[in-house]
Amino acid sequence: MARVVALGTAAAVADEEHANTYLALEGEQGFLLIDCADSPLVRIRQAGLDLQRLRGLIITHFHPDHVCGIPILLMNIWLLGRTASLPVYGLPDVLERFNAMMELFFWRDWPGFFPVLCQTVEEKEGALVLDDEDFRITSAPVKHIVPALGLRIENKRTGGVLAYSGDTAPCDAMVRLARGAQILIHEIAGSTWGHSTPDRAGKIALRASVGRLVLIHYQPAPHKYDRWIEQARAIFGGPVELAQDFGEYVF
Ligand SMILES: [Zn+2]
Ligand SMILES: [Zn+2]
Repeated sequence: MARVVALGTAAAVADEEHANTYLALEGEQGFLLIDCADSPLVRIRQAGLDLQRLRGLIITHFHPDHVCGIPILLMNIWLLGRTASLPVYGLPDVLERFNAMMELFFWRDWPGFFPVLCQTVEEKEGALVLDDEDFRITSAPVKHIVPALGLRIENKRTGGVLAYSGDTAPCDAMVRLARGAQILIHEIAGSTWGHSTPDRAGKIALRASVGRLVLIHYQPAPHKYDRWIEQARAIFGGPVELAQDFGEYVF
């Protein structure tokens, strides 16, 4: 069994109940972070995840709401005694910026800092992110303001599939990536360029024939939640829910 925990669900502007969107993906061998915002150490603990079992970080794209927690996470786990290497997966452009960001903190001078292994993900449809005993994760470039990835996560133990849009406007690549998934987690930041609305996310879910749609990366506004769910459901026709912080998705 594997689970994704939403460690945050907000778009760029967080509030007291919604951190910026990032996810933890837990399998039997440990867990990976997908993006890293907010106060990652605190959230990881609140989600009941064992920090010792952190085994990688996937960065979907280099926007502050998706990467702002990385320096403090790396510093925290170093201070807590991590020695094992940590793979970081991302597009070439993203890894370059990740390195540049960490250079500002003179991370190479941190004594005894554990090795960080940058793993380049090709900017092409079907590119492999990682393949191990728990998961096979593939990706595709999606339509955002900067180079960005959507993900398809296959649970090799159960055969279940979960797809995650990252930040994107509705696009055919996301339909292909999510094809037949049990769960599609799709962003709904709005109608500005490079993002999606609930009805457009519903259309992607319909075209991809997914089992269930989870809406995420939204501007918190409780009076709109029911309407968003209705808008997506009206197009998709299947089950729709709005992700909340610490919501869990088993697949
Ligand atoms: Zn974002
Ligand atoms: Zn973004």
